[in-house]
Amino acid sequence: TTHSTPGHAAPRVAPSVAPTTDTHLDIAGVTKNFGPQAVLGGIDLSVSKGGTTAIVGPSGSGKTTLLRLIAGFEHPTSGAISLNGTLVAGNGVRVPAHKRHVGYVAQDGALFPHLSVGQNISFGLDVGNLDGGRRSVRGRVEELLAMVSLDASMAKRRPHQLSGGQQQRVALARALAREPELMLLDEPFSALDAGLRVATRRAVAKVLNEAGVTTILVTHDQAEALSFADQVAIMRDGTLAQIGNPFVVYTRPADRATAEFLGEAV
Ligand code: ADP
Repeated sequence: TTHSTPGHAAPRVAPSVAPTTDTHLDIAGVTKNFGPQAVLGGIDLSVSKGGTTAIVGPSGSGKTTLLRLIAGFEHPTSGAISLNGTLVAGNGVRVPAHKRHVGYVAQDGALFPHLSVGQNISFGLDVGNLDGGRRSVRGRVEELLAMVSLDASMAKRRPHQLSGGQQQRVALARALAREPELMLLDEPFSALDAGLRVATRRAVAKVLNEAGVTTILVTHDQAEALSFADQVAIMRDGTLAQIGNPFVVYTRPADRATAEFLGEAV
Protein backbone atom coordinates (compact mmCIF):
# COMPACT_ATOMS: atom_id res chain seq x y z
CA THR A 1 0.00 0.00 0.00
CA THR A 2 1.50 3.28 -1.12
CA HIS A 3 0.56 6.85 -0.35
CA SER A 4 -1.23 8.61 -3.16
CA THR A 5 -3.60 11.51 -3.60
CA PRO A 6 -6.75 11.20 -5.70
CA GLY A 7 -6.88 13.23 -8.90
CA HIS A 8 -9.19 16.16 -8.29
CA ALA A 9 -10.62 16.38 -11.80
CA ALA A 10 -11.62 12.71 -12.07
CA PRO A 11 -15.16 12.45 -13.49
CA ARG A 12 -17.88 10.65 -11.59
CA VAL A 13 -18.68 7.28 -13.15
CA ALA A 14 -22.34 6.36 -13.42
CA PRO A 15 -23.29 3.19 -11.52
CA SER A 16 -23.42 0.26 -13.92
CA VAL A 17 -26.53 -1.14 -12.26
CA ALA A 18 -29.42 1.20 -11.52
CA PRO A 19 -30.62 0.90 -7.89
CA THR A 20 -33.64 -1.41 -7.89
CA THR A 21 -35.14 -3.87 -5.44
CA ASP A 22 -32.53 -6.33 -6.71
CA THR A 23 -29.75 -4.00 -5.60
CA HIS A 24 -27.89 -5.37 -2.60
CA LEU A 25 -25.28 -2.66 -2.19
CA ASP A 26 -25.57 0.94 -3.31
CA ILE A 27 -22.71 3.38 -2.81
CA ALA A 28 -23.48 6.99 -3.74
CA GLY A 29 -20.91 9.80 -3.84
CA VAL A 30 -18.77 8.29 -1.09
CA THR A 31 -15.59 10.13 -0.14
CA LYS A 32 -13.06 9.32 2.58
CA ASN A 33 -10.34 11.52 4.01
CA PHE A 34 -7.70 10.42 6.49
CA GLY A 35 -6.60 13.73 8.00
CA PRO A 36 -5.52 15.93 5.10
CA GLN A 37 -5.31 12.98 2.70
CA ALA A 38 -8.28 12.40 0.39
CA VAL A 39 -8.22 8.63 -0.12
CA LEU A 40 -11.60 8.17 -1.86
CA GLY A 41 -12.73 10.97 -4.15
CA GLY A 42 -16.39 10.18 -4.87
CA ILE A 43 -17.34 6.55 -5.40
CA ASP A 44 -20.60 5.40 -7.04
CA LEU A 45 -21.12 1.65 -7.23
CA SER A 46 -24.09 -0.69 -7.25
CA VAL A 47 -23.95 -4.45 -6.77
CA SER A 48 -26.99 -6.61 -7.42
CA LYS A 49 -28.15 -9.39 -5.09
CA GLY A 50 -26.07 -12.52 -5.58
CA GLY A 51 -23.75 -10.64 -7.95
CA THR A 52 -19.97 -10.83 -7.90
CA THR A 53 -17.91 -7.68 -8.38
CA ALA A 54 -14.13 -7.62 -8.71
CA ILE A 55 -12.27 -4.43 -7.80
CA VAL A 56 -8.87 -4.16 -9.43
CA GLY A 57 -6.39 -1.31 -9.31
CA PRO A 58 -2.90 -0.32 -8.25
CA SER A 59 -1.71 -0.59 -4.68
CA GLY A 60 -2.72 2.48 -2.69
CA SER A 61 -5.68 3.34 -4.93
CA GLY A 62 -8.18 2.89 -2.07
CA LYS A 63 -9.56 -0.63 -2.57
CA THR A 64 -9.18 -1.79 1.03
CA THR A 65 -10.56 1.50 2.33
CA LEU A 66 -13.68 1.04 0.21
CA LEU A 67 -14.22 -2.50 1.59
CA ARG A 68 -13.73 -1.25 5.16
CA LEU A 69 -16.37 1.43 4.60
CA ILE A 70 -18.83 -1.18 3.30
CA ALA A 71 -18.08 -3.47 6.26
CA GLY A 72 -18.59 -0.61 8.70
CA PHE A 73 -15.03 -0.54 10.10
CA GLU A 74 -14.68 3.01 8.79
CA HIS A 75 -17.20 5.79 8.21
CA PRO A 76 -17.39 7.84 4.98
CA THR A 77 -16.45 11.52 5.09
CA SER A 78 -19.43 12.20 2.80
CA GLY A 79 -21.87 10.24 0.66
CA ALA A 80 -24.11 7.31 1.51
CA ILE A 81 -24.00 3.50 1.64
CA SER A 82 -27.17 1.39 1.53
CA LEU A 83 -27.61 -2.34 1.97
CA ASN A 84 -30.82 -3.95 0.71
CA GLY A 85 -32.33 -0.50 0.33
CA THR A 86 -31.57 0.51 3.93
CA LEU A 87 -29.18 3.37 4.61
CA VAL A 88 -26.28 2.08 6.76
CA ALA A 89 -23.81 4.97 6.50
CA GLY A 90 -24.14 8.68 5.73
CA ASN A 91 -26.69 11.41 6.44
CA GLY A 92 -26.15 10.97 10.16
CA VAL A 93 -26.74 7.20 10.04
CA ARG A 94 -24.06 4.74 11.18
CA VAL A 95 -25.15 1.10 11.46
CA PRO A 96 -22.42 -0.84 13.33
CA ALA A 97 -20.43 -3.52 11.50
CA HIS A 98 -21.96 -6.47 13.37
CA LYS A 99 -25.46 -5.45 12.26
CA ARG A 100 -24.70 -5.28 8.54
CA HIS A 101 -24.68 -9.06 7.76
CA VAL A 102 -21.37 -8.55 5.99
CA GLY A 103 -18.42 -10.99 6.08
CA TYR A 104 -14.85 -9.85 5.61
CA VAL A 105 -11.82 -12.00 4.77
CA ALA A 106 -8.46 -10.25 4.75
CA GLN A 107 -5.36 -11.10 2.73
CA ASP A 108 -3.67 -13.09 5.50
CA GLY A 109 -6.85 -14.66 6.86
CA ALA A 110 -5.90 -13.32 10.29
CA LEU A 111 -6.82 -16.43 12.29
CA PHE A 112 -6.40 -16.33 16.06
CA PRO A 113 -3.11 -18.26 16.52
CA HIS A 114 -3.84 -19.41 20.09
CA LEU A 115 -7.23 -20.93 19.23
CA SER A 116 -7.91 -24.22 17.45
CA VAL A 117 -9.40 -24.20 13.97
CA GLY A 118 -12.78 -25.16 15.44
CA GLN A 119 -12.63 -22.37 18.01
CA ASN A 120 -11.64 -19.91 15.29
CA ILE A 121 -14.70 -20.86 13.27
CA SER A 122 -17.15 -20.88 16.16
CA PHE A 123 -15.72 -17.69 17.68
CA GLY A 124 -18.54 -15.19 17.88
CA LEU A 125 -21.15 -17.73 16.75
CA ASP A 126 -24.45 -16.98 18.42
CA VAL A 127 -24.62 -20.17 20.49
CA GLY A 128 -28.08 -19.16 21.66
CA ASN A 129 -29.35 -19.77 18.16
CA LEU A 130 -27.93 -23.26 18.02
CA ASP A 131 -30.14 -25.57 20.04
CA GLY A 132 -28.30 -28.11 22.12
CA GLY A 133 -25.28 -25.93 22.88
CA ARG A 134 -21.81 -27.43 22.62
CA ARG A 135 -22.67 -30.43 20.49
CA SER A 136 -24.49 -28.39 17.88
CA VAL A 137 -21.63 -25.94 17.73
CA ARG A 138 -19.34 -28.86 16.89
CA GLY A 139 -21.78 -30.02 14.22
CA ARG A 140 -21.94 -26.56 12.75
CA VAL A 141 -18.13 -26.30 12.65
CA GLU A 142 -17.96 -29.63 10.81
CA GLU A 143 -20.59 -28.45 8.35
CA LEU A 144 -18.62 -25.27 7.69
CA LEU A 145 -15.35 -27.19 7.26
CA ALA A 146 -17.07 -29.44 4.74
CA MET A 147 -18.28 -26.37 2.85
CA VAL A 148 -14.68 -25.31 2.24
CA SER A 149 -13.54 -28.90 1.51
CA LEU A 150 -11.66 -29.44 4.77
CA ASP A 151 -11.83 -32.61 6.84
CA ALA A 152 -13.60 -32.50 10.22
CA SER A 153 -10.35 -33.65 11.87
CA MET A 154 -8.89 -30.20 11.10
CA ALA A 155 -11.04 -28.68 13.84
CA LYS A 156 -8.60 -29.71 16.56
CA ARG A 157 -5.51 -28.31 14.88
CA ARG A 158 -3.90 -24.94 15.45
CA PRO A 159 -3.63 -22.51 12.50
CA HIS A 160 0.18 -22.94 12.24
CA GLN A 161 -0.33 -26.67 11.57
CA LEU A 162 -2.23 -25.85 8.37
CA SER A 163 -0.97 -24.84 4.93
CA GLY A 164 -1.59 -21.31 3.69
CA GLY A 165 -4.45 -22.47 1.50
CA GLN A 166 -6.06 -24.37 4.36
CA GLN A 167 -5.77 -21.33 6.62
CA GLN A 168 -7.51 -19.20 4.00
CA ARG A 169 -10.31 -21.78 3.80
CA VAL A 170 -10.67 -21.66 7.57
CA ALA A 171 -10.85 -17.85 7.42
CA LEU A 172 -13.60 -18.19 4.87
CA ALA A 173 -15.44 -20.78 7.00
CA ARG A 174 -15.22 -18.38 9.95
CA ALA A 175 -16.74 -15.59 7.85
CA LEU A 176 -19.43 -17.96 6.50
CA ALA A 177 -20.32 -19.07 10.05
CA ARG A 178 -22.14 -15.82 10.56
CA GLU A 179 -24.18 -16.38 7.40
CA PRO A 180 -23.32 -13.08 5.74
CA GLU A 181 -25.51 -11.77 2.94
CA LEU A 182 -22.53 -9.90 1.50
CA MET A 183 -18.97 -11.23 1.49
CA LEU A 184 -15.99 -8.90 1.13
CA LEU A 185 -12.79 -10.67 0.05
CA ASP A 186 -9.63 -8.55 0.22
CA GLU A 187 -7.02 -10.33 -1.89
CA PRO A 188 -7.76 -13.53 -0.03
CA PHE A 189 -5.73 -15.75 -2.34
CA SER A 190 -2.68 -13.59 -3.03
CA ALA A 191 -0.50 -15.26 -0.39
CA LEU A 192 -0.98 -18.67 -2.02
CA ASP A 193 1.16 -20.18 -4.74
CA ALA A 194 -0.35 -20.37 -8.21
CA GLY A 195 -1.77 -23.93 -8.10
CA LEU A 196 -3.27 -23.57 -4.67
CA ARG A 197 -4.65 -20.15 -5.57
CA VAL A 198 -6.75 -21.52 -8.40
CA ALA A 199 -8.01 -24.50 -6.36
CA THR A 200 -8.90 -22.32 -3.37
CA ARG A 201 -10.54 -19.70 -5.55
CA ARG A 202 -12.72 -22.35 -7.18
CA ALA A 203 -13.73 -23.82 -3.82
CA VAL A 204 -14.60 -20.39 -2.46
CA ALA A 205 -16.52 -19.33 -5.57
CA LYS A 206 -18.54 -22.54 -5.42
CA VAL A 207 -19.49 -22.09 -1.76
CA LEU A 208 -20.50 -18.45 -2.19
CA ASN A 209 -22.36 -19.13 -5.39
CA GLU A 210 -24.33 -22.03 -3.94
CA ALA A 211 -25.25 -19.97 -0.89
CA GLY A 212 -26.28 -17.04 -3.13
CA VAL A 213 -23.98 -14.67 -1.25
CA THR A 214 -23.29 -11.32 -2.92
CA THR A 215 -19.52 -11.00 -3.24
CA ILE A 216 -16.97 -8.23 -3.70
CA LEU A 217 -13.43 -9.37 -4.44
CA VAL A 218 -10.38 -7.11 -4.36
CA THR A 219 -7.61 -8.62 -6.45
CA HIS A 220 -4.41 -7.84 -8.32
CA ASP A 221 -4.94 -10.92 -10.45
CA GLN A 222 -6.83 -10.23 -13.65
CA ALA A 223 -7.44 -13.89 -14.44
CA GLU A 224 -9.06 -14.10 -11.03
CA ALA A 225 -11.24 -11.05 -11.74
CA LEU A 226 -12.29 -12.48 -15.10
CA SER A 227 -13.15 -15.93 -13.79
CA PHE A 228 -14.83 -14.75 -10.59
CA ALA A 229 -16.81 -11.65 -11.42
CA ASP A 230 -19.85 -10.57 -13.41
CA GLN A 231 -18.82 -6.94 -12.90
CA VAL A 232 -15.33 -5.44 -12.83
CA ALA A 233 -14.52 -2.03 -11.34
CA ILE A 234 -11.17 -0.41 -12.08
CA MET A 235 -9.97 1.75 -9.22
CA ARG A 236 -7.41 4.48 -9.63
CA ASP A 237 -6.40 7.29 -7.27
CA GLY A 238 -9.50 6.92 -5.12
CA THR A 239 -12.02 6.88 -7.95
CA LEU A 240 -13.59 4.19 -10.12
CA ALA A 241 -12.20 4.78 -13.59
CA GLN A 242 -14.46 2.18 -15.21
CA ILE A 243 -17.21 -0.25 -14.21
CA GLY A 244 -18.62 -2.87 -16.51
CA ASN A 245 -18.79 -6.48 -17.45
CA PRO A 246 -15.34 -8.08 -17.51
CA PHE A 247 -15.24 -8.62 -21.25
CA VAL A 248 -16.07 -4.98 -22.01
CA VAL A 249 -13.60 -3.60 -19.46
CA TYR A 250 -10.75 -5.75 -20.75
CA THR A 251 -11.45 -5.32 -24.45
CA ARG A 252 -12.49 -1.67 -24.34
CA PRO A 253 -10.68 0.13 -21.52
CA ALA A 254 -12.25 3.57 -20.94
CA ASP A 255 -8.98 5.49 -21.19
CA ARG A 256 -5.27 5.18 -21.79
CA ALA A 257 -4.36 4.90 -18.10
CA THR A 258 -6.76 1.99 -17.63
CA ALA A 259 -5.45 0.29 -20.77
CA GLU A 260 -1.88 0.73 -19.52
CA PHE A 261 -2.76 -0.59 -16.08
CA LEU A 262 -4.50 -3.65 -17.53
CA GLY A 263 -1.64 -4.19 -19.97
CA GLU A 264 0.94 -3.98 -17.21
CA ALA A 265 -0.86 -6.19 -14.77
CA VAL A 266 -1.52 -9.07 -17.18
P1 ADP B 1 -5.28 -0.33 -1.65
O1 ADP B 1 -6.13 -1.30 -0.93
O2 ADP B 1 -5.80 -0.01 -3.02
O3 ADP B 1 -3.83 -0.70 -1.68
P2 ADP B 1 -5.74 1.36 0.63
O4 ADP B 1 -7.20 1.58 0.76
O5 ADP B 1 -5.11 0.35 1.54
O6 ADP B 1 -5.36 1.08 -0.88
O7 ADP B 1 -5.01 2.73 0.89
C1 ADP B 1 -5.29 3.92 0.15
C2 ADP B 1 -4.56 5.08 0.80
O8 ADP B 1 -5.15 5.37 2.07
C3 ADP B 1 -3.09 4.82 1.06
O9 ADP B 1 -2.38 6.01 0.75
C4 ADP B 1 -3.06 4.53 2.54
O10 ADP B 1 -1.82 4.89 3.08
C5 ADP B 1 -4.17 5.40 3.07
N1 ADP B 1 -4.78 4.87 4.32
C6 ADP B 1 -5.47 3.71 4.42
N2 ADP B 1 -5.92 3.54 5.67
C7 ADP B 1 -5.49 4.61 6.39
C8 ADP B 1 -5.64 5.03 7.75
N3 ADP B 1 -6.32 4.30 8.64
N4 ADP B 1 -5.06 6.19 8.12
C9 ADP B 1 -4.39 6.94 7.22
N5 ADP B 1 -4.22 6.61 5.93
C10 ADP B 1 -4.76 5.47 5.50
